[in-house]
Amino acid sequence: MLQKIMAINAGSSSLKFQLFSMPDEQVITKGMIERIGKQDAFFSIQYGKQKHRETFAVENHQQAVDHLLSALLDHEIIKSLDEIAGVGHRVAHGGEAFSDSACIDAAALQQIEHLGTLAPLHNPVNAIGIRAFMEALPHAKAVAVFDTSFHQTMPPETFLYALPYRYYQEQGIRRYGFHGTSHKYVSQKCAEKLSTPLSDLRLISCHLGNGSSLCAIQHGRSVNTSMGFTPLAGVMMGTRCGDIDPSIMPYLAKQENKSADELNALINNESGLLGISGVSNDYRDVEQAAKDGNERAQLALKMFAERIRAFIGSYIAHMGGLDALIFTGGIGENSRTARAAICHALEYLGIALDETRNNANETFIQQDSGQVKIAVINTNEELMIARDVMRV
Ligand code: ADP
Repeated sequence: MLQKIMAINAGSSSLKFQLFSMPDEQVITKGMIERIGKQDAFFSIQYGKQKHRETFAVENHQQAVDHLLSALLDHEIIKSLDEIAGVGHRVAHGGEAFSDSACIDAAALQQIEHLGTLAPLHNPVNAIGIRAFMEALPHAKAVAVFDTSFHQTMPPETFLYALPYRYYQEQGIRRYGFHGTSHKYVSQKCAEKLSTPLSDLRLISCHLGNGSSLCAIQHGRSVNTSMGFTPLAGVMMGTRCGDIDPSIMPYLAKQENKSADELNALINNESGLLGISGVSNDYRDVEQAAKDGNERAQLALKMFAERIRAFIGSYIAHMGGLDALIFTGGIGENSRTARAAICHALEYLGIALDETRNNANETFIQQDSGQVKIAVINTNEELMIARDVMRV
């Protein structure tokens, strides 16, 4: 029997949605509400070939949800709210409590809110979105899909930082990792395209977007990932610095008298591609500036690729080999120059990019002689959320 399942991604001022027919995985409608909290919030919805846009005041997430549900009825996308059998919510942080997606009851919701100490910008708004839907659709199953849970399979020698052990026990300070839904989706898709069971594969997934992370996936399980206690760690990103020597923070606190909040803004919002190039956080803009001869933009692109290459080498060592390297996310899916720079001179490791296939954006872009498959796979976190609602 076909069921209608909603996938929700709530941010601090936005709410993205996709309504699926499951299990046939057809998108019935999708869209988003942006600028929640403003007089000129922006609502867009797409169904069939129709696109509808509107601007009006939306005070909070509850109003956004109410508006979305009215729009579904007004446009006759559904006849009754009872048709929506389940709602899957993307939740940033599941801590150690959630090693898989979970049905949301009062206790789970409280736990998600409690984990707000670890993800203060995300979990509280995720919880607001969940509450809003639970109120509007009390009959629908609510499921939380966590960015962190895929990585709960990492062993302690990988997830622990070499700090005094009590900081792990008392404060939960450890590597959690993020982008789990995307890494899981592309790893499954890659195995499907290779017609090989996931349990037989060693994969490295490179999710390269505004936020970027790599994940080493062995037998279908995350064994290492580049993001850490927060989504700041790992590779260089649009505005985030990725891994740096932590001593730089107390040094700058003293030298420039910076507060913890100022340092946090520096490493999260002013660094990365933007900080080095001085041009933009957007990879396309930096690519264009580099083409136009901007040396700092050229340097930023080199640094971006160099850091990713270092993680690839490290994860091959971690897994004792590699069967496929996956590129996904806005940069991974679209930038052939990024993929070429990352794969440059890795033939020794069996990674040999085919220029023609790469330029043609084919799904597999390795040379015929290359031992390691190189795959370009469009991520689909919303579909993964809808699948998890069905599974859970
Ligand atoms: P988010 O992390 O916000 O989901 P995306 O996965 O959409 O981000 O990725 C956004 C990044 O992808 C931006 O840096 C953008 O410049 C880059 N990008 C998108 N399309 C292209 C393209 N055709 N060529 C190069 N970079 C691209």
